[in-house]
Amino acid sequence: MDAELLEPGQRIATLTGMTPAGDIGDALAFSDGFIAEGPTPHAAGETIDATGWIALPPLADLHAHLDKGYTWTSFGQPEGSLDDAISCWMDHGHNHGYAEIKAGARRHLIAALHSGVTAVRSHTNYHLGEDPLRGVRALVELRTQFAGIVDLQIVASPGPSDGPDDLGRAAVALGIDLVGGFPHLAEDPTADLERAASFAEEFKIGIDLHTDETLDPSSCGLAELAARTRHWPAGVIRSAGHCVSLSTQDAETRARTLAAVAEARVSIITNPLTNLYLQGWEHPIATPRGIPPLREVIAAGATLAAGGDNVQDPFNPLGNADMVDVAAELVTAGHLTPAEAWHVSSSGGRAAFGLPPARGRSGDVADIVLVRAAHTAEALAERAPDRIVIRDGQVIAVRRRVVSSVFDLQALPTSPSAPTSEGALL
Ligand SMILES: [Zn+2]
Repeated sequence: MDAELLEPGQRIATLTGMTPAGDIGDALAFSDGFIAEGPTPHAAGETIDATGWIALPPLADLHAHLDKGYTWTSFGQPEGSLDDAISCWMDHGHNHGYAEIKAGARRHLIAALHSGVTAVRSHTNYHLGEDPLRGVRALVELRTQFAGIVDLQIVASPGPSDGPDDLGRAAVALGIDLVGGFPHLAEDPTADLERAASFAEEFKIGIDLHTDETLDPSSCGLAELAARTRHWPAGVIRSAGHCVSLSTQDAETRARTLAAVAEARVSIITNPLTNLYLQGWEHPIATPRGIPPLREVIAAGATLAAGGDNVQDPFNPLGNADMVDVAAELVTAGHLTPAEAWHVSSSGGRAAFGLPPARGRSGDVADIVLVRAAHTAEALAERAPDRIVIRDGQVIAVRRRVVSSVFDLQALPTSPSAPTSEGALL
């Protein structure tokens, strides 16, 4: 059967004919939800001819805000910095009801799924006005609905730093996965980090903090997070999102901090799209990128993941839940190779999430994304529209190319066109 004809629900025993890309060769065999050494005689499913496609590890979005998605126009379209976006959120957040939150979050998850994302970690605010836990509830319900399709981890902050933690305790009771927070925005960042960490310890859950989302080099929350969590057991998640100030600190400070991060098993989550947008408005030329030094993070041995962060909300008018856009930016602005960018956006994210590997190797889970492209760089450059998402050896989503028409180019003088992954143009 041709991969072109695959539909969600179909089981696959073997993929053949792929163009080798990265670590994955021209064939894959699945058996009982895992990658097998070779075709298994009684494996359930079809043999698929995937000529013209490459197979890549599934994408993982480790920093989303599902409760904010698609609010750009309804929240007044602020133009500018993180401070502008936060004040816009404070002005309009009380109008953001449970139904709107859940609808936006669901739209985001479906868009992510079609693009090849099978794991999402989302933060949620305590929402303004009555029923501040409506965002937590909406995401908990969606986590159940998407179980087995898109793994969802929910991060919520433990409440205002000067008040009781009743909301945080209620959120834990509703089933959040991780404690969140924004220490760099607090009057006393060190005390705010301590409060979040001790709250997580009390409930024996992990932590994912917005960390140093500022160009101010004196912001050193990442080093403090590493010091505070270095004695935690290996399996307890501790992640730092953004880590922007790392891009403004001197070499010695960066090296010291990243060594501590690696030793403490803190994962770093970079969010290039939002931080390229939010940071640097006060620098009209030589604008800082707001992206941590990714190559140094990898060289230090720390786990590096990536997130799409905001999708068409006050913090980023763009964003579309497609991690291929994020991976492309890791190449353009983060100076990773295309293969490294895909690794960070897939396997790096799965490691930070606590998921088993899905690298296409024997014994890995049978989760893979088929992309119609000739190689990883083309997949990123073209934002390859055709993707088939496979989980546990079963197709769970299919995205097909948009059919378009062009003026009759036969009428124009042409030189022979080189074949591409989508065939010759004419
Ligand atoms: Zn965020």
